[in-house]
Amino acid sequence: MYVIMKNKIINNRLNHIGPNFSLHYNEPIHLVKSKGMYLYDINGKKYLDAIGNINIVGHCNDHVVESIYKQASILNTNTRYLYNIMEEYSEKLLKYFPKKLSVIYFVCSGSEANDLALRMANNFTNGSEYIVIDNAYHGHTDSLINLSPYKFKSKGGQGRNSNVHILDMPDAVRGKYRFNENQWINKYINEGKELIDNVAFNKKISAFFSESILGCGGQIILPPNYLKQIFNKIKSNNGVCVSDEVQTGFGRIGKNFWAFEEQKVIPDICTVGKPMGNGHPIAAVITTREIADSFNNGMEYFNSFGGNPVSLAAGKAVLEVIENNKLQENAQKIGNYLKIKFNDLKNKFPDKICDVRGEGLFIGVDLVEKGNPDLPDSKIANFIINHSKKLGLLLSTDGPYDNVVKIKPPLIINIDEANYLIECLDKSINYYINNNI
Ligand code: PMP
Repeated sequence: MYVIMKNKIINNRLNHIGPNFSLHYNEPIHLVKSKGMYLYDINGKKYLDAIGNINIVGHCNDHVVESIYKQASILNTNTRYLYNIMEEYSEKLLKYFPKKLSVIYFVCSGSEANDLALRMANNFTNGSEYIVIDNAYHGHTDSLINLSPYKFKSKGGQGRNSNVHILDMPDAVRGKYRFNENQWINKYINEGKELIDNVAFNKKISAFFSESILGCGGQIILPPNYLKQIFNKIKSNNGVCVSDEVQTGFGRIGKNFWAFEEQKVIPDICTVGKPMGNGHPIAAVITTREIADSFNNGMEYFNSFGGNPVSLAAGKAVLEVIENNKLQENAQKIGNYLKIKFNDLKNKFPDKICDVRGEGLFIGVDLVEKGNPDLPDSKIANFIINHSKKLGLLLSTDGPYDNVVKIKPPLIINIDEANYLIECLDKSINYYINNNI
């Protein structure tokens, strides 16, 4: 009976909703509620959410829900009026940034934040050229698809625009230069600098966009010193450096609140989103006074929903929960534990797992055939996520070969839940091997 109903829901969706809104899993899940680390389907099955990076403080967190409700029942309006929550939240948020980043523009999504960053960079530099890292994803608008090799190089993509220039992704495992090669980091840095100089020789650079850990690239940690050197080169050519922290921000990576801090750089513009409202659509651009003043060129910036009091209340509540529950510390603690355990799995299945990487609760497990990084295995990665789903664990895959299992749970995950996650991965790989799939 339920199968008929589910098929009807799927068919209705196909009839009414854009067909390229994709669904997770071979058998999509019909959800009815969520709480904390867990999602519940219509049949009462409970799933541990290990991919819920948006719901950073846990699903339907009481403090966030109550703050939204309370603010929505008192006042919801737009930034053309004065209201206290704007000051309260802005001050709180800016404390997490280096002093130089002192001006906020509130928007509603990561794409909107990056699109605004792009406008600011264009306005500030009068430049026409963009530098991005291979396999980066910066958003779904037309302008950002063009800055996202992850999209424009893959199915349905229209290829690279001539004013977009791609740095090789410094992938230590499968890249052009690898960790066991002499000077591998410098080779990426030197080639990157050369490319930037060549671009700047004829044309003006507008911006360099980078994720400080590449999520869609397959959880790629940039090697030490990489961003510092590339930022310096961009700046010496009068370009603007934009750090896209939409995936990695808000304490997820454990040691630092933002991933750019790991690389010891300060961007000119930082964009944040996804977890900022724990599921409520709030995002932001944070920049310098100089760039903000130059953007204030006479044209009003108005955003109907960006910076509305309810969104700001959600954002403030998220920071309060992160602080009060020491969630950044938890991300580091559980993240380190998971990495040790995933490395144990790598030793147990050396033919299947060739690398475990990540920071805090932003981890990737790289699946291959015959232990060979040049044989990325999307088949086993896909099997693992679908089998884990049966066991009550939600995971996803990514990377240019779709062979990296991503782990990015809410930061409230505890040791028992981490152990369950490991157990599911272990069982899924065992099943795959024992059944010759
Ligand atoms: N930048 C990065 C790094 C992202 O991962 C995403 C979303 N996956 C975006 C930007 C776009 O954010 P949104 O989906 O909120 O528009």
